[in-house]
Amino acid sequence: MVHYPRLVINLSSIRHNASLIYNLLKVYNISTIGVTKGTLSDPHIVDTISSVGINYIGDSRLLNIKKIKDNFPHLNTVLLRIPMLSEADDVVYLADISLNSEPLVIKALGNAAHAKRIIHKVILMVDVGDRREGILPGDLLDVVREIKDIKGIKIAGIGANFACFGGVLPDEKNLTLLTELAEDVSSLIQEELEFVSGGSTSSLYLVKNGKMPKGITNLRIGTGILFGIDDIRDIGIEGAYTDTFILEAEIIELKNKPSLPMGTIAKDAFGNIPHFEDRGIRKRAILGIGRQDVVFEALHPVDKEVEIVGGSSDHMIVDVTSSYTNYGVGDIIKFNLGYPAMLYLFNSSYVVKIWGKEVDR
Ligand SMILES: *Cc1c(COP(=O)(O)O)cnc(C)c1O
Repeated sequence: MVHYPRLVINLSSIRHNASLIYNLLKVYNISTIGVTKGTLSDPHIVDTISSVGINYIGDSRLLNIKKIKDNFPHLNTVLLRIPMLSEADDVVYLADISLNSEPLVIKALGNAAHAKRIIHKVILMVDVGDRREGILPGDLLDVVREIKDIKGIKIAGIGANFACFGGVLPDEKNLTLLTELAEDVSSLIQEELEFVSGGSTSSLYLVKNGKMPKGITNLRIGTGILFGIDDIRDIGIEGAYTDTFILEAEIIELKNKPSLPMGTIAKDAFGNIPHFEDRGIRKRAILGIGRQDVVFEALHPVDKEVEIVGGSSDHMIVDVTSSYTNYGVGDIIKFNLGYPAMLYLFNSSYVVKIWGKEVDR
């Protein structure tokens, strides 16, 4: 019995993208941290990405870092979200490397690591403009002075984020600043930095165009591998495959209905007051999937004539009036995904995951 909704994951395309990006970056002496957080670091995904030679895997949640360590003890785990003070003990036990910006937390990591007689590597995040986490450039050297002699930790590098909160793109200017800061840190601690981590998928663009400053030695790549695109710029990555995920949902009702609701309008199930355009009678399908499972706004019907109208926690309504396919109850409608849709679908235990090599291109 086949169960719906289901998410079909094309592992061979993900492997292709991982290999393409890893080898491109290698040419420029840039190492890759494969970012698997959008998939809850599912072992199928981690296995696929690491199979091409990527041996640093990053996730933002400690529970997922544990999953990676449990299944792949030989891989280096990177905790991407700066740690909570309360999780310091677990962080040094489960993550080989963590991104950090708070001296207090770094001291706690040092204490925890020293007690276990291990060395935990930290990458100091610098805020070069996006205004999410990070030490301001003017404060970086003070922080380094404050933490450099803490036992149990090693300053393995510095890094920056882009296009996460402020929507700021990586460019030659802010990345050159990062490389200059890296040199300052390096001479202060009198050690080479293993990581000068210049951002995520949105930084690939600079590598491709020969504009990546020389001192950048690492990137953290999620979207590029999982979707084959640079979603910030809305452009494809040359040679990458985009057929990595397909969502399949089943039609549970199909009827011709007026496009306007009838009665006094108050709020919908999510507290919004809905607005509708009168388009007369439309042929509408209800699918057995809802906002509890996925973000509708990040779904793109494979059948271009199908239109997502809306829905609630457990129902999604699509307009199939213009489709050339004569859908019926029990039929399947397929969708391509954006990143937020993947995030929700992996988190929904109501969505069956199909690990495909069986998917044809
Ligand atoms: C999610 C994340 C990444 C990966 O970003 P993509 O755009 O998916 O490549 C990199 N760094 C950090 C800190 C992240 O949280």
